[in-house]
Amino acid sequence: MSVNQSGWRPERPEAGDGDGAGTFTGNRALMLEEALIFEIGDTETTGVDFAPAPAAASRLAGLERRRPIDLPGLSEPEAVRHYTRLSRQNYAIDLGLFPLGSCTMKHNPRLNEKMARLAGFADIHPLQPIDTVQGGLGLIHLVAEWMTALTGMPAVAMSPKAGAHGELCGLLAIRSALEARGDARSVVLVPESAHGTNPATAAFCGYAVENIPATAEGRVDLAALKARLGPDVAAVMITNPNTCGLFERDMRAISDAVHAVGGLVYCDGANFNAIVGRVRPGDLGIDAMHINLHKTFSTPHGGGGPGSGPVVFSDALAPFAPLPFVERTEDGFRLIEEETAQEHHAGSFGRMVAFHGQMGMFVRAAAYLLSHGADGLRQVSGDAVLNANYVLRSLDDLLDAPFGESGPCMHEALFSDSGFADGFTTLDVAKALIDEGFHPMTMYFPLVVHGAMLIEPTETESKAALDQFIGALRSVAERARAGDAALKSAPHFAPRRRLDETLAARKPVLVWKDEAPAEAAE
Ligand SMILES: *Cc1c(COP(=O)(O)O)cnc(C)c1O
Repeated sequence: MSVNQSGWRPERPEAGDGDGAGTFTGNRALMLEEALIFEIGDTETTGVDFAPAPAAASRLAGLERRRPIDLPGLSEPEAVRHYTRLSRQNYAIDLGLFPLGSCTMKHNPRLNEKMARLAGFADIHPLQPIDTVQGGLGLIHLVAEWMTALTGMPAVAMSPKAGAHGELCGLLAIRSALEARGDARSVVLVPESAHGTNPATAAFCGYAVENIPATAEGRVDLAALKARLGPDVAAVMITNPNTCGLFERDMRAISDAVHAVGGLVYCDGANFNAIVGRVRPGDLGIDAMHINLHKTFSTPHGGGGPGSGPVVFSDALAPFAPLPFVERTEDGFRLIEEETAQEHHAGSFGRMVAFHGQMGMFVRAAAYLLSHGADGLRQVSGDAVLNANYVLRSLDDLLDAPFGESGPCMHEALFSDSGFADGFTTLDVAKALIDEGFHPMTMYFPLVVHGAMLIEPTETESKAALDQFIGALRSVAERARAGDAALKSAPHFAPRRRLDETLAARKPVLVWKDEAPAEAAE
């Protein structure tokens, strides 16, 4: 392949990569190098022939297009091959295990997809008359009832569209509740190990964020937390199970201490997968918690969406929950909106989104909930924890498990880079794992562990799949300990070699131009 128009050219493999001396094409076995669609398409051709539009008076008031839009034209097989080849350069949950810790990347049952495509769910509109969408409202109400039952909390807001959006929802309700009692406070406490969205949410809501340290065993330092509590603390945000993969055993004591000084307790429930059906957050004194339907309840995620982050509330916060919400009436369901809220929901802080939430995700979650049932969900968390502990104990002779002595882990296994040869990093291990056919684990998070590697297998992986992944990671870890130089330039067999991570993140080239800037990342 010659240098293409954008100036980009596939990197030539290094000598010794086993590519032989033949002409370099960028192709590798079943994987064909693929140019941009603008480079292979031709603006003069189209894949389909449309009859010319009948001449009609324009309704666009002078806004009609005056020149061709210059989209590349491809025949149908060319278009199909282009996108199929691109898709093969990516990794997917349908291709193999996704070990990303904190992400709960589980199999998405096809049944859920089938249900979400039923016309009665897929083709309804949020502005339809209420009496024509009783089934849709009933489904939202059904998922809401499952959320309150599983968490032991009395109320739920279904509209937030992701975990971070749910955090915002929870903190806005907390702020409304505090302001309603004339006690606006200024500080939110967040543990060191928290997901980055927690401090970001608190700061976005105008709070000053302060860290709570962790103990040597990876849990919130209760004594330090108590010492910091006071009349300026609006809330604490605790992730439970936490991002070290450990259950916060002191949660009840934390909640009691926060309530004693008039504060409220937010729980980041993204890791609910480890305890669903076993622990009810409401019993731990939590006031608000988001649930990631796109993690625990198997709706697809990745690539930015769609997600869904319902938030459950305690009695103290329920009156401040956002609108709208679905209520069961004697003969069906109704939507409580601004006009109807005055009756008993006057404290609501308003709306998170224009309409009712992510309907497609609700249908998928409902299918998952109903097909598992309460017993099945309990088994989900049991199997997820078992799988994570199997990973932890199959690798802790080779990889340092900083909290391995703290007892069994919950849904994810955490390792550090201690023991790697000088100059070898977690990044090298992650890149080498790509050569072994796996998506890398979560790395450098949580920050409390040096060179962290966080692995969450989920319950949907078989023992054979876990063994295959463990084998791959063992071989890479052995090479990192031995200081195998080839690791530093991995991946060797992926469609792209090692990118400049900073440049790729800071200056991504997202728009095709005739000439891409010379210094930009691929
Ligand atoms: C995934 C996650 C979030 C954020 O959820 P999004 O849906 O990605 O916004 C927050 N906290 C933790 C611990 C998470 O794992």
